[in-house]
Amino acid sequence: MAPSMQYRLQIALVFIAPVLLLAGLFGLGSVLGVEAPLLARQYIIRLTLPDAGEMVGLPPVEGPQDPGRPLVVIDAGHGGHDPGASAEGVREKTLTLGLARALRDRLLREGGVRVALTRDDDTFLVLEERAEIARRLGADLFLSIHADSAGDKAGVTGASVYTLSANASSEAAARFAARENSADRVNGVELANQDAEVNAILVDLAQRRSQAGSDEFAQLILREGQGTLQFHPQSLRSAALVVLKSPDVPSALFEAGFVSNPEEAGRLASPEGQARFAEAMARAIRIYFARQAGV
Ligand SMILES: [Zn+2]
Repeated sequence: MAPSMQYRLQIALVFIAPVLLLAGLFGLGSVLGVEAPLLARQYIIRLTLPDAGEMVGLPPVEGPQDPGRPLVVIDAGHGGHDPGASAEGVREKTLTLGLARALRDRLLREGGVRVALTRDDDTFLVLEERAEIARRLGADLFLSIHADSAGDKAGVTGASVYTLSANASSEAAARFAARENSADRVNGVELANQDAEVNAILVDLAQRRSQAGSDEFAQLILREGQGTLQFHPQSLRSAALVVLKSPDVPSALFEAGFVSNPEEAGRLASPEGQARFAEAMARAIRIYFARQAGV
Protein backbone atom coordinates (compact mmCIF):
# COMPACT_ATOMS: atom_id res chain seq x y z
CA MET A 1 0.00 0.00 0.00
CA ALA A 2 1.28 3.47 -0.84
CA PRO A 3 2.20 5.45 2.28
CA SER A 4 -0.35 8.19 1.51
CA MET A 5 -3.12 5.60 1.10
CA GLN A 6 -2.17 4.01 4.38
CA TYR A 7 -2.24 7.41 6.04
CA ARG A 8 -5.69 8.18 4.63
CA LEU A 9 -7.01 4.84 5.83
CA GLN A 10 -5.73 5.56 9.33
CA ILE A 11 -7.47 8.95 9.32
CA ALA A 12 -10.69 7.34 8.14
CA LEU A 13 -10.49 4.74 10.92
CA VAL A 14 -10.11 7.46 13.53
CA PHE A 15 -13.43 8.94 12.42
CA ILE A 16 -15.22 5.70 11.75
CA ALA A 17 -14.26 3.89 14.95
CA PRO A 18 -16.48 5.94 17.32
CA VAL A 19 -19.42 5.62 14.89
CA LEU A 20 -18.98 1.87 14.77
CA LEU A 21 -18.75 1.74 18.54
CA LEU A 22 -21.96 3.75 19.02
CA ALA A 23 -23.79 1.66 16.43
CA GLY A 24 -22.60 -1.46 18.26
CA LEU A 25 -23.86 -0.13 21.59
CA PHE A 26 -27.26 0.71 20.13
CA GLY A 27 -27.42 -2.77 18.63
CA LEU A 28 -26.46 -4.35 21.94
CA GLY A 29 -28.95 -2.12 23.75
CA SER A 30 -31.84 -3.28 21.62
CA VAL A 31 -30.82 -6.94 21.98
CA LEU A 32 -30.73 -6.58 25.79
CA GLY A 33 -33.89 -4.53 25.84
CA VAL A 34 -32.16 -1.44 27.14
CA GLU A 35 -33.54 1.80 25.79
CA ALA A 36 -31.26 3.77 23.58
CA PRO A 37 -31.65 7.06 25.50
CA LEU A 38 -30.18 5.38 28.57
CA LEU A 39 -27.05 4.51 26.69
CA ALA A 40 -26.85 7.96 25.25
CA ARG A 41 -27.17 9.60 28.64
CA GLN A 42 -24.18 11.68 29.61
CA TYR A 43 -22.58 11.59 32.97
CA ILE A 44 -20.81 14.71 34.14
CA ILE A 45 -18.53 14.50 37.14
CA ARG A 46 -17.78 17.81 38.74
CA LEU A 47 -14.73 18.31 40.91
CA THR A 48 -14.20 21.42 42.93
CA LEU A 49 -10.64 22.55 42.34
CA PRO A 50 -8.91 25.36 44.22
CA ASP A 51 -8.31 28.51 42.21
CA ALA A 52 -5.03 28.63 40.35
CA GLY A 53 -2.32 30.13 42.51
CA GLU A 54 -4.16 29.39 45.72
CA MET A 55 -2.65 26.29 47.26
CA VAL A 56 -4.17 24.60 50.23
CA GLY A 57 -2.23 24.79 53.48
CA LEU A 58 0.44 27.17 52.28
CA PRO A 59 1.37 30.34 54.16
CA PRO A 60 0.67 33.72 52.54
CA VAL A 61 3.31 35.33 50.35
CA GLU A 62 3.81 38.93 51.40
CA GLY A 63 5.34 41.83 49.51
CA PRO A 64 4.86 42.81 45.87
CA GLN A 65 2.22 40.64 44.18
CA ASP A 66 4.52 40.15 41.22
CA PRO A 67 5.62 36.55 40.69
CA GLY A 68 8.69 37.89 38.89
CA ARG A 69 10.06 39.20 42.18
CA PRO A 70 12.36 36.83 44.08
CA LEU A 71 10.77 34.90 46.94
CA VAL A 72 12.54 34.00 50.17
CA VAL A 73 10.93 31.57 52.59
CA ILE A 74 11.99 32.14 56.19
CA ASP A 75 11.62 29.24 58.58
CA ALA A 76 11.52 29.85 62.33
CA GLY A 77 12.82 26.61 63.83
CA HIS A 78 10.71 24.44 66.17
CA GLY A 79 7.31 25.60 67.52
CA GLY A 80 4.25 24.24 69.27
CA HIS A 81 5.03 21.26 71.52
CA ASP A 82 8.67 21.38 70.36
CA PRO A 83 10.45 24.23 72.18
CA GLY A 84 13.89 23.43 70.75
CA ALA A 85 16.88 24.27 72.92
CA SER A 86 15.93 25.82 76.23
CA ALA A 87 17.71 27.68 78.97
CA GLU A 88 16.47 29.78 81.85
CA GLY A 89 13.60 31.85 80.57
CA VAL A 90 14.57 31.38 76.93
CA ARG A 91 13.09 28.98 74.45
CA GLU A 92 14.54 28.49 70.99
CA LYS A 93 11.12 28.42 69.31
CA THR A 94 10.29 31.90 70.63
CA LEU A 95 13.69 33.29 69.80
CA THR A 96 13.65 31.98 66.21
CA LEU A 97 10.14 33.35 65.59
CA GLY A 98 11.22 36.79 66.80
CA LEU A 99 14.21 36.78 64.45
CA ALA A 100 12.14 35.48 61.51
CA ARG A 101 9.52 38.19 61.96
CA ALA A 102 12.15 40.92 62.30
CA LEU A 103 13.79 39.77 59.05
CA ARG A 104 10.45 39.56 57.24
CA ASP A 105 9.45 43.06 58.38
CA ARG A 106 12.78 44.49 57.31
CA LEU A 107 12.63 42.90 53.85
CA LEU A 108 9.03 44.05 53.34
CA ARG A 109 9.85 47.57 54.48
CA GLU A 110 12.72 47.80 52.00
CA GLY A 111 10.51 46.37 49.23
CA GLY A 112 11.19 44.46 46.02
CA VAL A 113 11.37 41.02 47.61
CA ARG A 114 8.53 38.58 48.32
CA VAL A 115 8.57 36.89 51.72
CA ALA A 116 6.75 33.95 53.31
CA LEU A 117 7.17 32.50 56.80
CA THR A 118 6.73 28.75 57.28
CA ARG A 119 5.10 29.65 60.60
CA ASP A 120 4.02 33.02 61.98
CA ASP A 121 2.78 31.69 65.30
CA ASP A 122 3.52 28.97 67.85
CA THR A 123 2.62 25.98 65.66
CA PHE A 124 4.55 22.79 65.12
CA LEU A 125 5.72 21.77 61.65
CA VAL A 126 7.69 18.64 60.83
CA LEU A 127 11.05 19.22 59.14
CA GLU A 128 10.03 17.90 55.73
CA GLU A 129 7.01 20.22 55.74
CA ARG A 130 9.22 23.27 56.09
CA ALA A 131 11.35 22.60 53.01
CA GLU A 132 8.25 21.41 51.15
CA ILE A 133 6.52 24.76 51.75
CA ALA A 134 9.46 26.50 50.09
CA ARG A 135 9.35 24.10 47.14
CA ARG A 136 5.61 24.38 46.64
CA LEU A 137 5.70 28.16 46.79
CA GLY A 138 8.46 28.10 44.16
CA ALA A 139 10.86 29.90 46.50
CA ASP A 140 14.20 31.20 45.23
CA LEU A 141 15.82 30.96 48.64
CA PHE A 142 15.16 29.19 51.93
CA LEU A 143 16.51 30.26 55.30
CA SER A 144 15.92 28.23 58.44
CA ILE A 145 16.66 30.01 61.73
CA HIS A 146 17.73 28.12 64.85
CA ALA A 147 19.67 28.64 68.06
CA ASP A 148 21.92 26.19 69.84
CA SER A 149 22.63 25.06 73.37
CA ALA A 150 25.99 24.08 74.84
CA GLY A 151 24.46 22.69 77.99
CA ASP A 152 26.23 24.01 81.07
CA LYS A 153 29.13 25.41 79.03
CA ALA A 154 27.79 28.95 79.30
CA GLY A 155 30.96 30.39 77.75
CA VAL A 156 30.17 29.03 74.29
CA THR A 157 28.71 31.74 72.03
CA GLY A 158 28.46 32.82 68.43
CA ALA A 159 26.46 32.18 65.27
CA SER A 160 27.13 29.57 62.58
CA VAL A 161 25.81 29.01 59.09
CA TYR A 162 25.00 25.49 57.94
CA THR A 163 24.59 24.12 54.45
CA LEU A 164 23.73 20.58 53.43
CA SER A 165 26.84 18.38 53.33
CA ALA A 166 27.84 16.90 49.95
CA ASN A 167 27.28 13.27 50.96
CA ALA A 168 23.94 14.05 52.47
CA SER A 169 22.89 15.99 49.42
CA SER A 170 23.51 13.20 46.92
CA GLU A 171 21.85 10.67 49.21
CA ALA A 172 18.89 13.06 49.46
CA ALA A 173 18.84 13.35 45.70
CA ALA A 174 18.51 9.60 45.31
CA ARG A 175 15.73 9.39 47.86
CA PHE A 176 13.97 12.38 46.37
CA ALA A 177 14.09 10.84 42.92
CA ALA A 178 12.61 7.62 44.23
CA ARG A 179 9.80 9.43 46.01
CA GLU A 180 8.96 11.79 43.18
CA ASN A 181 8.97 9.21 40.40
CA SER A 182 5.22 9.31 39.82
CA ALA A 183 4.74 12.91 38.79
CA ASP A 184 6.55 15.99 39.89
CA ARG A 185 8.80 18.71 38.63
CA VAL A 186 12.31 19.71 39.57
CA ASN A 187 13.54 23.02 38.14
CA GLY A 188 10.72 22.91 35.60
CA VAL A 189 11.65 19.45 34.35
CA GLU A 190 8.76 17.02 34.37
CA LEU A 191 9.78 13.88 36.17
CA ALA A 192 6.81 11.79 35.14
CA ASN A 193 7.34 9.13 32.48
CA GLN A 194 11.07 9.15 32.92
CA ASP A 195 12.92 6.14 34.15
CA ALA A 196 14.41 6.16 37.63
CA GLU A 197 17.97 6.57 36.37
CA VAL A 198 17.13 9.65 34.29
CA ASN A 199 15.22 11.11 37.25
CA ALA A 200 18.19 10.58 39.54
CA ILE A 201 20.42 12.47 37.09
CA LEU A 202 17.93 15.34 36.73
CA VAL A 203 17.56 15.66 40.49
CA ASP A 204 21.32 15.45 40.92
CA LEU A 205 21.84 18.28 38.42
CA ALA A 206 19.18 20.42 40.07
CA GLN A 207 20.69 19.75 43.46
CA ARG A 208 24.20 20.61 42.35
CA ARG A 209 22.93 23.94 41.02
CA SER A 210 21.08 24.75 44.22
CA GLN A 211 24.05 23.57 46.31
CA ALA A 212 26.18 26.21 44.56
CA GLY A 213 23.50 28.79 45.40
CA SER A 214 23.38 27.60 49.01
CA ASP A 215 27.16 27.91 49.38
CA GLU A 216 27.13 31.40 47.89
CA PHE A 217 24.33 32.50 50.21
CA ALA A 218 26.16 31.07 53.24
CA GLN A 219 29.31 33.01 52.32
CA LEU A 220 27.27 36.20 51.93
CA ILE A 221 25.73 35.76 55.40
CA LEU A 222 29.24 35.53 56.89
CA ARG A 223 30.49 38.51 54.88
CA GLU A 224 27.52 40.79 55.53
CA GLY A 225 27.30 39.75 59.18
CA GLN A 226 30.95 40.65 59.82
CA GLY A 227 31.11 43.43 62.39
CA THR A 228 27.35 43.26 63.06
CA LEU A 229 26.82 39.68 64.25
CA GLN A 230 29.00 37.62 66.56
CA PHE A 231 30.12 34.41 64.90
CA HIS A 232 31.37 31.15 66.39
CA PRO A 233 35.07 30.46 65.57
CA GLN A 234 33.88 27.67 63.28
CA SER A 235 31.21 29.71 61.58
CA LEU A 236 30.63 27.72 58.37
CA ARG A 237 29.56 24.10 58.66
CA SER A 238 27.76 21.48 56.65
CA ALA A 239 25.57 18.69 57.94
CA ALA A 240 22.91 16.24 56.81
CA LEU A 241 20.03 18.46 57.90
CA VAL A 242 16.58 17.34 56.78
CA VAL A 243 15.30 20.90 56.63
CA LEU A 244 17.93 21.74 53.97
CA LYS A 245 17.20 18.77 51.72
CA SER A 246 15.10 20.55 49.14
CA PRO A 247 16.82 19.65 45.86
CA ASP A 248 15.78 22.74 43.90
CA VAL A 249 15.74 25.59 46.43
CA PRO A 250 19.08 27.03 47.60
CA SER A 251 18.95 26.69 51.38
CA ALA A 252 20.92 27.63 54.46
CA LEU A 253 20.40 27.25 58.17
CA PHE A 254 21.40 30.09 60.45
CA GLU A 255 22.22 29.03 63.99
CA ALA A 256 21.85 32.43 65.62
CA GLY A 257 23.76 31.72 68.82
CA PHE A 258 23.53 29.86 72.12
CA VAL A 259 20.52 30.03 74.42
CA SER A 260 22.81 28.54 77.08
CA ASN A 261 24.70 31.84 77.22
CA PRO A 262 22.40 34.27 79.08
CA GLU A 263 23.98 37.34 77.54
CA GLU A 264 23.71 36.07 73.98
CA ALA A 265 20.18 34.75 74.54
CA GLY A 266 19.13 38.13 75.94
CA ARG A 267 20.65 39.93 72.99
CA LEU A 268 18.96 37.68 70.41
CA ALA A 269 15.59 38.13 72.13
CA SER A 270 15.90 41.92 72.32
CA PRO A 271 14.50 44.29 69.66
CA GLU A 272 18.02 45.67 69.11
CA GLY A 273 19.52 42.23 68.62
CA GLN A 274 16.71 41.24 66.26
CA ALA A 275 17.18 44.47 64.28
CA ARG A 276 20.92 43.87 63.91
CA PHE A 277 20.29 40.32 62.69
CA ALA A 278 17.58 41.49 60.27
CA GLU A 279 19.79 44.23 58.84
CA ALA A 280 22.75 41.93 58.08
CA MET A 281 20.61 39.04 56.85
CA ALA A 282 18.44 41.26 54.62
CA ARG A 283 21.61 42.61 53.02
CA ALA A 284 22.92 39.09 52.37
CA ILE A 285 19.58 38.09 50.83
CA ARG A 286 19.43 41.15 48.58
CA ILE A 287 22.99 40.73 47.35
CA TYR A 288 22.30 37.06 46.68
CA PHE A 289 19.20 37.89 44.60
CA ALA A 290 21.02 40.68 42.75
CA ARG A 291 23.79 38.23 41.78
CA GLN A 292 21.27 35.63 40.64
CA ALA A 293 19.57 38.23 38.47
CA GLY A 294 22.98 39.13 36.99
CA VAL A 295 22.71 42.72 38.23
ZN1 LIG B 1 16.91 24.23 66.52
